[in-house]
Amino acid sequence: MDHFSKSKVSSVLLLALASVANAENCCAKLKTLDSSKTFYPNTYTYGAANGAGGLLPILGNVLQNDFPYWANQGIAAPGCVFTAKSTEDVSNAVKILHQYQCEYAIRSGGHNPIPEWSNTYGGVLLSTSGIDDVAYNPTENTVTFGAGCNWKDVYNELDPLGVGTMGGRDNTVGTGGFLLGGGISYYSNSKGWAADHITAYEVVYANGTIGTITPSNYPDLFIAMKGAGSSFAIVTHFTQETFEQKTYNAGFVFYPPGSIPKVLNALYNYSVDGAIAHPESHIIPAFSSVGPDLVVTEITLGAFCFFYPTKLKNFQETEVFKPFTKEIPFLASTKKNRKGINSISGEIAGYSGPGKRQSFTDMAIVLDSAETLKVLWDAYQDVAEPYRLCIQGYTASFIFYPLTSTFVSQGTAGGKKNSMGLENTPAGQDGKTIMIISINLTWLLKSQDALAAECVGKVFAKLRQIAEQRGIYHPFLYMNYANGTQDVLGGYGAASGDRLRQVKLEVDPTNDFGTLVKGRYKIPDA
Ligand SMILES: Cc1cc2nc3c(=O)[nH]c(=O)nc-3n(C[C@H](O)[C@H](O)[C@H](O)COP(=O)(O)OP(=O)(O)OC[C@H]3O[C@@H](n4cnc5c(N)ncnc54)[C@H](O)[C@@H]3O)c2cc1C
Repeated sequence: MDHFSKSKVSSVLLLALASVANAENCCAKLKTLDSSKTFYPNTYTYGAANGAGGLLPILGNVLQNDFPYWANQGIAAPGCVFTAKSTEDVSNAVKILHQYQCEYAIRSGGHNPIPEWSNTYGGVLLSTSGIDDVAYNPTENTVTFGAGCNWKDVYNELDPLGVGTMGGRDNTVGTGGFLLGGGISYYSNSKGWAADHITAYEVVYANGTIGTITPSNYPDLFIAMKGAGSSFAIVTHFTQETFEQKTYNAGFVFYPPGSIPKVLNALYNYSVDGAIAHPESHIIPAFSSVGPDLVVTEITLGAFCFFYPTKLKNFQETEVFKPFTKEIPFLASTKKNRKGINSISGEIAGYSGPGKRQSFTDMAIVLDSAETLKVLWDAYQDVAEPYRLCIQGYTASFIFYPLTSTFVSQGTAGGKKNSMGLENTPAGQDGKTIMIISINLTWLLKSQDALAAECVGKVFAKLRQIAEQRGIYHPFLYMNYANGTQDVLGGYGAASGDRLRQVKLEVDPTNDFGTLVKGRYKIPDA
């Protein structure tokens, strides 16, 4: 509402209604274009691609050993599903969708939990899952892969060659949404956002034209693509840098509730010091709480994933992790030497499986003290406790992501830029660590969706109040962990906003990405 007048809102609504009504026509045209790639409700492929339709999707999931959507809210009821197998397929389909102004949704890995962001009720679901080729180029040190790949597909190709790239820490995540939102990888402390390492995007524009975006042919659009979601084009292939990947040491350490104060202290020291002195290291610090209806012995567990890109004699050896692994009592550890990033990213996937109701929400602070981390953690527990007791299947992970000065500056070194603009913020400029705080809430019942949203809303209102009182609230919101209602693009700053608006006018003059394409944060006033 901030950016649009009432009349603009109602014309957008009218357009949306008209575009869903048109979908039947578009589905018929797509069927004529290629009947082997267009699927209607009550067919096996429709169910398997979309996750809806009685027993069909369940059968589909079992047969594919995969869920089309990580969160159950991703499941919707498109008028039809078009499964593109090539860039030309996407181009031909988008020409129809553009000409007849039909609503559509784009899906890569289906891991975004926000309803109707990669699916639609009544529109066309354009699935990229058939564009799954992966090609490593050892001469250029790059890898090119289809937007229908998840990270496991890319790692399957690179792991046996001892080659790495900036990808998901969970290998079931899709390449498309991950890279368009930024992307935090195991190598981000030293290399920044995964998107900072893309060298070319092969895309289909809103009118169906195929193009390639590189730093030399479309410098502003190339920058805008990094972190602004699906605002400009549908990506069909990404090309990104690769590097040597040796045997590494990684795994989880699980801490009992009594260790949490010490762990938070070690986390603070790591975030402002260890991660900067050792940017090759990486941690995923999570604290998980479960409801009383789930059978567990502890209600809260610290679950920290540690990554170090070198083989170690024993898991406690790494200097930078000693404060976590030698000085604090823990329950169990899976830390070991591993080859191939599918090993640790596959283990993570095992802890965060699909098939339930899920949400992500995040915010950021300028990290000032270990005491702040403890205050935020206590406040979260206090506010969430009544919800933990009554939401069925409640499982919440409270997760920190330290963005150090090296994280922020390395990705944009040598004049490179992205849309997120962190280097322009006060914390980015004076070298302080920015801490993203996110909550992944999981529950079972659709009837408790509102309660789950209320829980997360109250928690973040409290966390924000504390951060503002301490003068450490930071406006950056990481797109890939935000909840769909948050002002992510506003948090990127005015300079980035101006570039996004300008580029949007140039590449999508009819505003298809604002009106027809479902999901993602829309660029205001474009
Ligand atoms: C279990 C789990 C682990 C995660 N781990 C990490 C992590 O380690 N690091 C991290 O940074 N994030 C992580 N995330 C967050 C993740 O990056 C986002 O949820 C991301 O959006 C998922 O991408 P996807 O392609 O699977 O999702 P989708 O739901 O398919 O797509 C997400 C959005 O992007 C759009 N989109 C997808 N593909 C394209 C395309 N080719 N062209 C244009 N638009 C497109 C969709 O329309 C949709 O709006 C994780 C999420 C989950 C659920």
